[in-house]
Amino acid sequence: MLDTAIEYLKGVGPQRGEALKRELGIYTFGDLLLHFPFRYIDRTRFQYIREVRQEGETYQLKGVLRRLDTIGEGRSKRLVGLLRDETGALELVWFQGLSWIERSLTIGKSYIVYGRASLFNGRFNIAHPEIEEFTAESGQTPRTFEPVYPSSDKLAQKGLDARGLRRLMRSLLDLLTPADLPENLPDSLLSAYRLMPRWEAFQKIHFPENQRELEAARRRLKFEELFFLQLRLLQIQRRRKDSYQGFVFERVGEYFHRFYREKLPFELTNAQKRVVREIRADLGSGIQMNRLIQGDVGSGKTVVALLAMLIAIDNGFQACLMAPTEILAQQHYNTIKGLLGDLGVQVGFLSGVVKGKARRALLEALTRGAMHILIGTHALIEESVKFHRLGLAVIDEQHRFGVEQRAALWAKGAGRPPHILVMTATPIPRTLAMTLYGDLDVSIIDELPPGRKPVKTLHFTEQHRLRVQGFMREQIAQGRQVYVVYPMIEETEKSDLLNLMSGYEALSRDFPPPQYQISIVHGKMKPADKEFEMQRFARGETHIMVATTVIEVGVNVPNATVMIIENAERFGLSQLHQLRGRVGRGSDQSYCILMTSHKLSADARERLQTLVRTNNGFEIAEADLRLRGPGNIEGTQQSGMIRFLIADLAQDGPILVAAREIAQRILEADPELKAPEHRRLCEHLAATSKEARLWSRIS
Ligand code: ADP
Ligand code: MG
Repeated sequence: MLDTAIEYLKGVGPQRGEALKRELGIYTFGDLLLHFPFRYIDRTRFQYIREVRQEGETYQLKGVLRRLDTIGEGRSKRLVGLLRDETGALELVWFQGLSWIERSLTIGKSYIVYGRASLFNGRFNIAHPEIEEFTAESGQTPRTFEPVYPSSDKLAQKGLDARGLRRLMRSLLDLLTPADLPENLPDSLLSAYRLMPRWEAFQKIHFPENQRELEAARRRLKFEELFFLQLRLLQIQRRRKDSYQGFVFERVGEYFHRFYREKLPFELTNAQKRVVREIRADLGSGIQMNRLIQGDVGSGKTVVALLAMLIAIDNGFQACLMAPTEILAQQHYNTIKGLLGDLGVQVGFLSGVVKGKARRALLEALTRGAMHILIGTHALIEESVKFHRLGLAVIDEQHRFGVEQRAALWAKGAGRPPHILVMTATPIPRTLAMTLYGDLDVSIIDELPPGRKPVKTLHFTEQHRLRVQGFMREQIAQGRQVYVVYPMIEETEKSDLLNLMSGYEALSRDFPPPQYQISIVHGKMKPADKEFEMQRFARGETHIMVATTVIEVGVNVPNATVMIIENAERFGLSQLHQLRGRVGRGSDQSYCILMTSHKLSADARERLQTLVRTNNGFEIAEADLRLRGPGNIEGTQQSGMIRFLIADLAQDGPILVAAREIAQRILEADPELKAPEHRRLCEHLAATSKEARLWSRIS
């Protein structure tokens, strides 16, 4: 029944069917069923006239009609009635059908009035209300929550506005029987968690009789959605552990030990030590590692990754590190080469700019096994890159990579998939992590290296420009360096580039050579030029780095202490936090200065306030989720995994946590879901496996 084409539903037909497909993607009865209301109008109760406060909101009122007058002439001619209850009076207005309405209403009688409030000359009125006489009977008719469905102008023209859709939904639900919506959760679960049965939930999500029913239906459907996703993710994790044997890195050998003793320039933080231990345990376990390291900017993930790579090398394997941008990959290469010194580990760099002879030599050394570590961009996953014995793949700043790119790394292993270590610099909220990385083991570096002073964040507007410049001079005079970052967004690229260039020119006037040297880096430059400018800045030869967000991820210049972000209101929260992470990497007090215009949207203001208030990446991630919703959190756009029908990761954390725990418990007791009471789970997973196929193989 649910697979029936939508045009066969009573009241649809070919034309409306076509419109439903085009406008809402509704092809079948089942698609329509999943078109949930986005809000409900509470017609279970009457409001008082005093409660009419919100323009555009609908109200159901009960009162006595006190007056009814025709006012105005010609086109402004209208009928105005006055409805009065115990709490006040409100005008009802009609612009059409005046004489008919006038005849059908009687002054002095009681009416039920329903409609949308509008504000006119500072007073509320309701234009063209639904109106019916209040009688013993009409006062009794069951008044429900009316669903309001998303629609469109095109659909409304075809009679499918919110009300038309409501009619369709009613006829669909009348047609369905419980057999069309079989229960997919075990009875024991329904009763233990007081979940509404599935059939009932679908009825009540569309036509609840009161708030309580609506909440129960929502809770049930949200739980179902989150629960099956978690069940699937945990199953993937289990199966992978069962079926993919990992290379066993038994020993921690000479490279690791010598590096640790002779080369490591600092003591690891306790958090770093803990994560290294976790990784070591994984690598020795015989099971393929799929581990995510979450750590705030500057928490020292690179060295942890390097230690893991050394373990791979100690066991006769190769390792690779993939970064999302040329600059970042290059920087990792330099950092790691610098850290390793004369240890004798062969490190190579590969990106799109490595071409011709150099490239051939590199790939040849890699295939022969003469190269221990390969660092680079997504060039690493190209067909032509063949490892001798790849045992560990590290992916930095994971959220920049699509799932396909991650999957491609799997295939590069020596007969088995390599161990995978994923590092993200943007802490993501727990609910999101449980979903996006629900099948990974997670390590958290929740401690910054000692001696770091938290970055001070300030928000200034244009009128403070001179003060900010004075501050820059002060810092530069103390030998520090300054970043000035401009937004660069694809859609507005041209004007952004102009903005950047004029900012650069203005700075060049205010900070003239030879006293001051300014670097500039943006995405339109040749990689070699970018690299040259980055290097000059990194070596301290330039004082100011004017840039776009290309410097956002990972770039490390400890002597830079000031980050000035122009048009800060145009950046997302996590991006701002990332940018701020470029300073505060040395032992000097650092500053992040957010420059904006005077006028700001409420959202932008809250973003900036959040940033000024806290340096905690996890707290910022939670705020970001709350402000923008899960679909807009960086890195999640390409993930179909969080496109939920009804669940909302920003709000449904508690349901998600419960769903995951329950799924975990069920799989522990019955890994293959063979028990009779889990039959429904199996059937549902099988029936919906198609949509889950895409990401089921991915690390
Ligand atoms: P992120 O986690 O943002 O990738 P990095 O790995 O780039 O951070 O480390 C940031 C800086 O901190 C680097 O300069 C690194 O050398 C330094 N660092 C890392 N761990 C420690 C430590 N335990 N003690 C002191 N400095 C450290
Ligand atoms: Mg990093």
